[in-house]
Amino acid sequence: MLSTDRLKELACAAIDEKAGEIIGIAQDILAHPEPGFSEVRTSRVVAKKFTELGIEHEQGLAITGVKGRFAGGAGPGPKVAIIGELDSLLVGEHPHADSETSAAHACGHHCQIGMMLGTTMGLLTPQVREQLNGEVVPFAVPAEEFIEVERRLQMRTEGKLEFLGGKQELIRLGEFDDVDMAVMCHTASDMGERKFAMGGTSNGHVVKYVQFLGRGAHAGSAPHRGVNALNAATFALQAINANRELYQEEDTVRIHGIMTKGGEAVSAVPAEVKLEWRVRSGTPDAVVRNSAIVDRCFKAGAMAVGASVKITNIPGYLPMRHDNTLQELFRKNATALLGESSILVMSPRRNRGGSTDMGDLSHVIPACHPYTSGAVGAGHSKDYVITDYQTAVVNPAKIMAMTVIDLLADGGATGKEVLNRHRPAMNKDAYVKFQREQAEIVEFSGGD
Ligand SMILES: [Zn+2]
Ligand SMILES: [Zn+2]
Repeated sequence: MLSTDRLKELACAAIDEKAGEIIGIAQDILAHPEPGFSEVRTSRVVAKKFTELGIEHEQGLAITGVKGRFAGGAGPGPKVAIIGELDSLLVGEHPHADSETSAAHACGHHCQIGMMLGTTMGLLTPQVREQLNGEVVPFAVPAEEFIEVERRLQMRTEGKLEFLGGKQELIRLGEFDDVDMAVMCHTASDMGERKFAMGGTSNGHVVKYVQFLGRGAHAGSAPHRGVNALNAATFALQAINANRELYQEEDTVRIHGIMTKGGEAVSAVPAEVKLEWRVRSGTPDAVVRNSAIVDRCFKAGAMAVGASVKITNIPGYLPMRHDNTLQELFRKNATALLGESSILVMSPRRNRGGSTDMGDLSHVIPACHPYTSGAVGAGHSKDYVITDYQTAVVNPAKIMAMTVIDLLADGGATGKEVLNRHRPAMNKDAYVKFQREQAEIVEFSGGD
């Protein structure tokens, strides 16, 4: 029997040997970005690599997800998922954007696929694998970025989806029923001198697809015969801004959105205007409270000009709950690899303001979502690029491999301890029921 430390050394050495290959995979995905639920090529890249590595896998989960699975050689035990997110954003001005689709990896998810495969390769080292109990589940998941709302609603209408976020949909489909806990790692650009960070939390949110309906008319000869849907929307946005003083400091409220249709021809009174909007807050209760304020504002816009509005409220993400035991393993392993001064542990109250569907998964099973540096520029902008692939891909691959070894070596004792200590916030059925309850259509006529 090799010691756990020796197993970690072997896994890390294997990852070092494969560093060029896993960085190459990340850069290949960077050059071929695909937004959520259309990551067809990206998921093929993952499936092909799984095949090469001899890993049994299923494809097409929640449209593009790819789930691999291999057993350790030491008998049954906990099943640990290593997650990598497949999807890109849409940032047309990004230096690596697809010129036709505007898709771009402005959130670093291409690195996650590289690191997930790197961790897998490290754990497949024969001496390592034979001493692991339980199962390792490398899992490439779709659609973390909650974008292209209208397109996804259309997919929902066509029966291809129910929930519009990847992990939400995978939970609903039961694809995490055979997984006991899950880890992943996200790149970040705001960590200063630190190389690896963990802890904190994220915002919950609700997503709104909003249609203002007025009446078209000639904007020059007969504007009085129209009802201007653009004016209704503009008024609603003013009303949302006028409510900012109601938002509580501790709720980390972020309310933001885009107009996806502002009219059709400049010569006509706009008859239909569409918005995609998002209300984020630190707790599910605050999301509900602030969502109601925003709905009120949309109605006010319709009321002001005599238009009508249809608000499709769509279940968004839940705040992140990091499992303490998993986080402590990450802290120990990151410290061993990078030194204590490179590690940042954020207080559980520190809310970064963004949202992730890893938050949803963390309500159902033990999960941990730390950050690695290696990126520069504001996230989701044209400036967000990876400048240090060793830090963005290779380090986290090693830290996750070491963490899985802690969980599954020695009879899987630590993995079992995680399960014994963990108190899920809700089970899968309660989660699906809770999210279904957030789906609601509000219709309001401001006309007579
Ligand atoms: Zn993002
Ligand atoms: Zn991201």
